[in-house]
Amino acid sequence: MTAARGYAAPASDQPLVPFTFERRALRPDDVQIAIQYCGVCHSDLHTVRGEWGETAYPCLPGHEIVGRVTAVGPDVKRFAVDDIVGVGCMVDSCQTCPSCHDGLEQYCEEGFTGTYDGKDRITGEDTLGGYSDIIVVREQFVLNIRHAGADLAAVAPLLCAGITTWSPLRHWQVGPGHKVGVVGIGGLGHMAIKLAHALGAHVVAFTTSEAKIADARALGADEVVVSSDAEAMAARANSLDFILNTVAAPHDLDAFLTLLKRDGTMTMLGAPGSPHPSPSVQKLIFSRRRLAGSLIGGIAETQQMLDFCAEHGIVSDIEIIAIQDIENAYERMLRNDVKYRFVIDMGSLAQI
Ligand code: NAP
Ligand code: ZN
Repeated sequence: MTAARGYAAPASDQPLVPFTFERRALRPDDVQIAIQYCGVCHSDLHTVRGEWGETAYPCLPGHEIVGRVTAVGPDVKRFAVDDIVGVGCMVDSCQTCPSCHDGLEQYCEEGFTGTYDGKDRITGEDTLGGYSDIIVVREQFVLNIRHAGADLAAVAPLLCAGITTWSPLRHWQVGPGHKVGVVGIGGLGHMAIKLAHALGAHVVAFTTSEAKIADARALGADEVVVSSDAEAMAARANSLDFILNTVAAPHDLDAFLTLLKRDGTMTMLGAPGSPHPSPSVQKLIFSRRRLAGSLIGGIAETQQMLDFCAEHGIVSDIEIIAIQDIENAYERMLRNDVKYRFVIDMGSLAQI
């Protein structure tokens, strides 16, 4: 066992506080990682505040992890001490069901093991995430980071925001000749703009925040629409092939379904704690539109996304915070005031 430190929430209505615990002794196929940076995902906030139902407390979130390997178990083949690696939203899965066989561990029929708020498949203990100094993860769920010379803090959000937007863009084969809408310009949305642009699509960003218009263009959007502008919305009716909806709060889905062409698809990524108003079935029927969902991405496609981003020089736009500022970061996230991902410098843990 190794002594570890982090920040955890004792209950849904209490702030995160310093927390000491132990990481497991290495199993033969385990990798131990000294965490350097961890991104702050809106899912962390939904989970620590109990918005998705039953959270196990203390809850120590964080699933956009970048760090340095400090030890490996005897059966580990792909990693050695001092390698720079990443860990995303999953740390294990059954490895035998059809989804795991297809490399889509996020859809594991037994349920994947979350990096936090999951249950270890061997001991049944609660998993504790990346707002900490050390983590121990099964080799199969550890990713190579090949961003030579890049700011590693800005690579961290690729492990969730990057893969969650990459996976549906690839699944629905988005590329040149496609008009793609991105709804909500936060952590996921800003990566969706960058990735859809890099894949050659024409990108239309939809925001509730007028202040983000210039940024959205700089991120790669060809057009930016403030979604409260009825005229601009009406002008884009029936114009989009595909929409990624990243909004973290309940909202009117019909306003965006109307923008899809015949046979277009809107894929939901945002997972608010309470339901959206029911979308109109007529909006789907009359243009054979589809409403779909997508969950993070498999380990193999996460590596493909990381390598694509390394090759194309793509990282996240970030604001570095000390772990002591996490509650303030959450409050700013709730005010849509994130440009465009908070990342915790884990060096700040040394100050507690
Ligand atoms: P985020 O950084 O807070 O961004 C969400 C954005 O949605 C905001 O910046 C804002 O953009 C827009 N928004 C927020 N409230 C809104 C409202 N009431 N009406 C309209 N737009 C609103 O969050 P995130 O980390 O990107 O996560 C987004 C959602 O995806 C969360 O629910 C998270 O749990 C979920 N998620 C899902 C997966 C998955 O696998 N499907 C993975 C990770 C996260 P504008 O200012 O541009 O309007
Ligand atoms: Zn996430």
